[in-house]
Amino acid sequence: MLETAALPPRIHSWEQLPDPADVDAAPRRLMALHAHPDDEASKGPGTVAMYTRSGVRCTLVTATGGEEGDILNAEMDKPEVVEHLDRIRLEELEDSVEICGYAAAYLLGYRDSGMPDSDANARPDAFANVDLNEALARLVRLVRAERPHVILGYDDHHFYPHPDHIMVYRLGLEIWDAAGDPDFTYAGIDLGEPWVPQKLYWFHWSLKRIVAIHEEFERRGWESPFAHWVENRPSEVDDPITTQIDVGEYMDVRRAALVAHRTQVDPQSMWLRLPDDVLRDIHPYDDYVLARDRTGLPPWDGRTIETDLFAGVRAAS
Ligand SMILES: [Zn+2]
Repeated sequence: MLETAALPPRIHSWEQLPDPADVDAAPRRLMALHAHPDDEASKGPGTVAMYTRSGVRCTLVTATGGEEGDILNAEMDKPEVVEHLDRIRLEELEDSVEICGYAAAYLLGYRDSGMPDSDANARPDAFANVDLNEALARLVRLVRAERPHVILGYDDHHFYPHPDHIMVYRLGLEIWDAAGDPDFTYAGIDLGEPWVPQKLYWFHWSLKRIVAIHEEFERRGWESPFAHWVENRPSEVDDPITTQIDVGEYMDVRRAALVAHRTQVDPQSMWLRLPDDVLRDIHPYDDYVLARDRTGLPPWDGRTIETDLFAGVRAAS
């Protein structure tokens, strides 16, 4: 992890709290929790662009520096890139943060744990090995300073069991209670005044979206990245989308944010290969699962799709 002084201008350490006046100026606020630089580009970039343009203060918390990311773009696979990958990944994040429109981005300050069963898993500074309460205390401090009404986090990631993603899932459940709990303390750190978030969502890579992309690849005679999964999926797959945000107008933001992660995204990959107008036609949504809710709205009926993350949110204070 780079020293705070070396961070790009839009990227802050967890110790650098925002100006309270900037937070007060936004009546609706959203915070996205992610594991690595580039996760914010593959999950919810259009959502953030849309809400930012409608006056919502959107902030990002990225748990790790992504130091273990493989260089997936052959053009970037050079010794000088490999040597400075930690710095380059934060510069990529800086660009993506600007493209999506995040008002502020924070690093939780941990090291990428690497893929399951890799050597990086064993490092004591790997995110997956740190004391969950220490990571939670850093996040509590940020949440209490940014006061988000809505938090976006991860589900249990049974399809992609990356240790850092699973940690973000655990942190999301913990922060839901700890942010507003005056009795939560850690190592004497001043964590600020309790703040109670009203909704917790999980980003959801839906079956509908996977099948739509799969079928479009097959229609074009391209090898589908999801062929194995679609052909072998159980007949009953749980696809519990509660919420869809129409991001059809923001496909360009999604693409630009992904391209900003130039070491991580192969220009020929399934992320970029289909044109934006085709993606807009086949699935113009970011999908979410409403995981926790304090708004007082009736529980989800299992059918009606919510179209606004702030539905039912009381935006005072
Ligand atoms: Zn990740």
